[in-house]
Amino acid sequence: MSPTTFLDWPVIRQLRSADKTGRGAAVTSKATRETAPRTFEADSVAQSVCPYCAVGCGQLVYSKDGKVTHVEGNPDSPVSRGRLCPKGAASEQLGNSPLRQTKIKYRAPYATEWTELDHDTAMDMIADRFLEARRKHWEDTDEQGRPLRRTMGIASLGGATLDNEENYLIKKLFTAAGAIQMENQARI
Ligand code: SF4
Repeated sequence: MSPTTFLDWPVIRQLRSADKTGRGAAVTSKATRETAPRTFEADSVAQSVCPYCAVGCGQLVYSKDGKVTHVEGNPDSPVSRGRLCPKGAASEQLGNSPLRQTKIKYRAPYATEWTELDHDTAMDMIADRFLEARRKHWEDTDEQGRPLRRTMGIASLGGATLDNEENYLIKKLFTAAGAIQMENQARI
């Protein structure tokens, strides 16, 4: 890097150049000139919808070599017109954060530590608990003999990262099982 001289001072550059008001090239640093948006490096961009809440802001997801590098608002979205709130603007971390959990964690009753479970074991444990709670709290009729055919022993609280299809299947499954308590974080 060449040493800074007296002539490099912004006010001198301002007086010597055509940028007399000092709002353009005269006051632009070398670092600023060499800075480029992350979107310039991307080799693909996909349209998406922010998963975090029910507003459903449109996103442009930039990636390079198969890895998400940047997420920003989609100006073509009639919902958000290019805007994202801080949470939506940080959704690149959804895939890239080193804190992202990729293993199934289980904390047994009274345990103070989490242990890792394999997928099949976890699925069996969930199914066993689901069926047991349904059986134990099944209500066939009310006190006057009117049909209920429901269970209050299971409930579903979905997260906003669930998409339409997942929510549809969850609703079908829980309704078929007799559950009536179904809610989603995006509606709370
Ligand atoms: S950007 Fe913010 S307001 Fe928009 S959908 Fe995401 S979380 Fe909701």
